[in-house]
Amino acid sequence: MNVELKSDWHRRAEALKLPSKAFIDGAYVDALSGETFDCVYPGSGKVIASVAACGPADVDRAVRSARKAFESGAWSRTAPTERKKVLLRFSELLLENREELGLLETLNVGKPITNSTNGDIPSAANCIAWYAEAIDKVYGEVAATSDDMTTLVVREPVGIVAAVVPWNYPLSMAAWKLGPALATGNSVILKPAEQSPFTALRIAQLAIDAGLPAGVLNVLPGLGHVTGKALGLHMDVDCVGFTGSTEVGRYFMQYSGQSNIKRIGLELGGKSPQVVLADCPDLDVAARTVAAGIFSNTGQVCNAGSRLIVEDKIKDKFLEKVLAHANDLKPADPLDPSTKLGSIVSEEQLNRVMSYIEQGLSGGARIIAGGNRVAQETGGFFVEPTVFDGVANNMKIAQEEIFGPVLSAITVRDFDEAMSVANDTIYGLAAGVWTGDLKKAHRAAKAIKAGVVWVNCFDRGSMSVPFGGFKQSGFGRDKSLHAMDKYSDLKAIWINHG
Ligand code: NAD
Repeated sequence: MNVELKSDWHRRAEALKLPSKAFIDGAYVDALSGETFDCVYPGSGKVIASVAACGPADVDRAVRSARKAFESGAWSRTAPTERKKVLLRFSELLLENREELGLLETLNVGKPITNSTNGDIPSAANCIAWYAEAIDKVYGEVAATSDDMTTLVVREPVGIVAAVVPWNYPLSMAAWKLGPALATGNSVILKPAEQSPFTALRIAQLAIDAGLPAGVLNVLPGLGHVTGKALGLHMDVDCVGFTGSTEVGRYFMQYSGQSNIKRIGLELGGKSPQVVLADCPDLDVAARTVAAGIFSNTGQVCNAGSRLIVEDKIKDKFLEKVLAHANDLKPADPLDPSTKLGSIVSEEQLNRVMSYIEQGLSGGARIIAGGNRVAQETGGFFVEPTVFDGVANNMKIAQEEIFGPVLSAITVRDFDEAMSVANDTIYGLAAGVWTGDLKKAHRAAKAIKAGVVWVNCFDRGSMSVPFGGFKQSGFGRDKSLHAMDKYSDLKAIWINHG
């Protein structure tokens, strides 16, 4: 990134044209009803745009466009090498426009501009490129049947995929769906969260510029219970790739049952444990990682390590080290390139975080760092990194997803208690374990019921590794070749040549 001054980003933000229309059939359009909803910059609390609020009629229009494009074969039946070229170009265009896209992301969600431009946007581009590269390297199967038969097992695109995504990493989460869904030949309707439509809308044009035929990617901004629901209930949407809360995930299961049994992939919430055992090989590294594991992106991360489960022998020493990191991190202007911690996404989310902090206190836990809303004079939604000690695992702050910078420390006596507390949750997205004992590392990795277990690290990821949850954290996987399964159906073809 070109190193820029804080004032430069503010100036660029003021000059930037904010996308506000839906993208249907290759063109930007208003919602048929003419309705809009407001987008607020969480760094200032000010309304910065009014965006098309798509309703069921717009969903119909987008589904018709997506179906027409799918049946035409202009994308769904092109050679994999052609699709690969277009998606690689799409990925390049994301990178070429990363400063603009990064700025749009920060204006929507208040994450630090350096994280948006150096993290979120390149990571989304990398995801698209990864699936572009994969397309012409996946093969079908020939099944072992009989000598007079050739039996092929092939994968076909499901048809129309609705990608309904959250606001915490708007473009990355969209890319996790777009990459595998487009690579396998589907038409996609992307529904960004109402808090964060800008990058989704902007990249629709970039996809066309890269050569994606009109109708293959439509983007519908709108309210969840209107646009999301209409997609979930639509009889001609074949699959929903959803990332969001467990509460809304339940709705999508119901929408599917009430409509056409569309396939559903659910990447939902979490309450991930970070278990630190007394034989942890390096308490400094662990403390730094535990703090980053909960405070990155102001804790608005599905796999945020929000429960610290620590053995009593090292608890005081370890918490002291975590506190040093928490106290060091000050929420600040998201448009300042030196800022490491931005704002909370919205006033509603801020109030939710503050109410959990109050519940922690009234439940008998003790705040040992942070706990306050700060920088109120900016109008923005900023909260200090907060650490609770003396948390019992049955308290609300240990059971419910806060989705904010709040760490709950729970003390345990030994390995077995640590495992049982780690698993005492409805969620099963991810977990971390710190130990110097190889046997304990393996035993913990097996014992913890979660889709990802990190040993002596946390929040590591790669496009080549599947990501997703056990239990009420959902099912189906994003990332890796496994994600392509969600967006394709297996077909068995028996050819009798006897
Ligand atoms: P959310 O569930 O409120 O919204 C997600 C999406 O669903 C948005 O596009 C929203 O408009 C839509 N929606 C909301 N209500 C709907 C309804 N009634 N019908 C249909 N669609 C509806 O989640 P959020 O607040 O945007 O994001 C935070 C949540 O996302 C957290 O629970 C977090 O853990 C989860 N998340 C999970 C992962 C993962 O990979 N497991 C990744 C990121 C975020």
